[in-house]
Order: sequence, then C-alpha cells, then structure tokens
Amino acid sequence: MSHLVTTAVRPKACPCGALVLAGVAEGLHVWADPVGLNRAGWVAAILAGRETYRLTRTGLVALDSDRAKDDRIGGPIVARHKCREPIPPHHREISTPPQIENTKEIPF
Ligand SMILES: [Zn+2]
Repeated sequence: MSHLVTTAVRPKACPCGALVLAGVAEGLHVWADPVGLNRAGWVAAILAGRETYRLTRTGLVALDSDRAKDDRIGGPIVARHKCREPIPPHHREISTPPQIENTKEIPF
C-alpha cells in the first residue's frame, strides 16, 4: 500500500501554450500530454526517456515494467509533457471511425 498521494488530473495550460493534464502521481507532480498513445507511441516515448502513465479515473498511474504488463490497470496510456515536442499523429491512439456502408444510394 502506497502512502504517496495520487490526485485526479485537471486540464492546465503549459507556458509553451499546450494543454496538459496536471496531477499528482504517487507524490510527484506530473504534466502529461492529453493524447492517448498507441503501442508505437508508447515505445517511442519510453525510448525518448519520457515517463508514461495510465490515465485512470483516480489519476495518473506511473507505468513501470511490472505495471506495464498489468492488464487490470485500464485507461489510455499518456506520456509526460515535453514542451514543443507534441505526440506525432502516427503515435496517437485513434478510435476506429464507424463504418459507413457505401451503397451509392442517396440517403434521403
Ligand atoms: Zn509545455
């Protein structure tokens, strides 16, 4: 049981102009980019030395090697904010757009 405080995140403006998620994760103040990472983005963030977190209902959960494998921790993976280094589009988790059947009929 950890005695370190974790708080829910709040949107905040970074001095660089980016919107960040600000919260306390196990006693440490964290500003994270409000962008869910896909697997490639997660790997890229780790290789770049950026801490990664799961965004949960109660706040940010730091992902260490044990927690990274723990499927019980749900929620999107986000990375620590770095000014002027936004998450590139191909590293963002994109929800699948709904499939619209093209029947070539006029829909009215
Ligand atoms: Zn910034």
